[in-house]
Amino acid sequence: MGQGFYGIRAEAVASCVVLSHPGCADGGVHKPVGITGDHKPVANGGDLGESGAPMNPDFVREALRQVRYPGFSRDIVSFGLVKNITCEPGLTVVQIEVQTADPAVPERIFQDCHAVLDPLPDIGHARVEIEVKGAPAAAGGQVRATIPGVKRIIAVASGKGGVGKSTVAANLAVALAASGAKVGLCDCDLYGPSVAQMFGTVERPLANEQDEIIPIEAHGVKLMSMGFLLDGSSPVIVRGPMATRYTQQFLRQVAWGELDYLILDLPPGTGDIQLTIVQTVAVDGAVIVTTPQEVALIDARKAVSMFGKVNVPILGLIENMSWFECDAGKRYHLFGNGGGAREAELLGVPLFGQIPIDVPTREGGDAGKPVALLSAEANKVAAAFHRTAAAVRSKTGV
Ligand code: ADP
Repeated sequence: MGQGFYGIRAEAVASCVVLSHPGCADGGVHKPVGITGDHKPVANGGDLGESGAPMNPDFVREALRQVRYPGFSRDIVSFGLVKNITCEPGLTVVQIEVQTADPAVPERIFQDCHAVLDPLPDIGHARVEIEVKGAPAAAGGQVRATIPGVKRIIAVASGKGGVGKSTVAANLAVALAASGAKVGLCDCDLYGPSVAQMFGTVERPLANEQDEIIPIEAHGVKLMSMGFLLDGSSPVIVRGPMATRYTQQFLRQVAWGELDYLILDLPPGTGDIQLTIVQTVAVDGAVIVTTPQEVALIDARKAVSMFGKVNVPILGLIENMSWFECDAGKRYHLFGNGGGAREAELLGVPLFGQIPIDVPTREGGDAGKPVALLSAEANKVAAAFHRTAAAVRSKTGV
């Protein structure tokens, strides 16, 4: 019985990322920024001991990695829910802490833990104790860390990649700044950071005495991106819990100063990293970027559902690539017409803006000069971003 659990080991992360700043301009207060990876410990999973001997807590913990948080691919161990494991002869006690308003969540975790633990040899009696804490506070609440000095944290998410999420995040940040707000933009995409490129900066950030990273400033926006910490050629090879840890470290250690808005450009998708981000900082609300096309809307719905699970309100939708207007002024709805408006109505949230496909927008992104730097009169997409920024401001009240 339970032989299948022999040899379960944490998947050793064979590689780490070591990033460092090449030098400090003033040689004084500021220190180079670096993120150093380490190796995930290998649990003692191969030695169960003689029958009748107590279980090894490490082994139990590794076995519990098979239990997923309901509705997500992430397991309860890497999620940090398993608070304590004690093993005595004949009795194994697992203490779990979960924060949810949904009674089905602890129930499911309880059953799944027993399904994993009960068949283990030498487990004796497995007791799973789950402490259920109240739901995470609504946006702006006390559970997730607020960032001192930052009035509103807004996540820009898409579910699907390639719909222009980063382009929208960058231009929204620039347009908000142009409207007089103090704005920061944090590119949270560990695997494909693009903000550095979109703002045309190759500067590397420095750290202050508190070991916080000082954001780079470009086009009136404070910027932080994994792209600033990585060499252009550095492959990012962290994954799983390591990636989650980097992202948390990255989010917590930036000296943003006073901001009206911090825009978080989330990585595409609705997986563990996105979940970690919205649970690490007190996100006030999410803006979902989609194209009018059904395939994009399907993934946008997944993003909406993910935010719903962690009680982050959807502030509104931005439809990108809504149409292409030729020189003669005729509009071509390349990805369909009206998808964003229909979805917004379905969700009961505002459609903040419709952004057309536009060559200067793409060129501006590639050249490090977001199109929203232009005036509304000079470019129609810039105008759309300025209107969108005004809509976001009136909805969020800053
Ligand atoms: P995502 O962040 O969703 O992966 P990006 O913002 O990186 O998408 O955009 C993907 C590509 O589409 C980029 O080359 C970008 O310049 C281009 N793009 C995005 N929105 C527009 C737009 N409205 N008009 C023209 N090109 C756009």
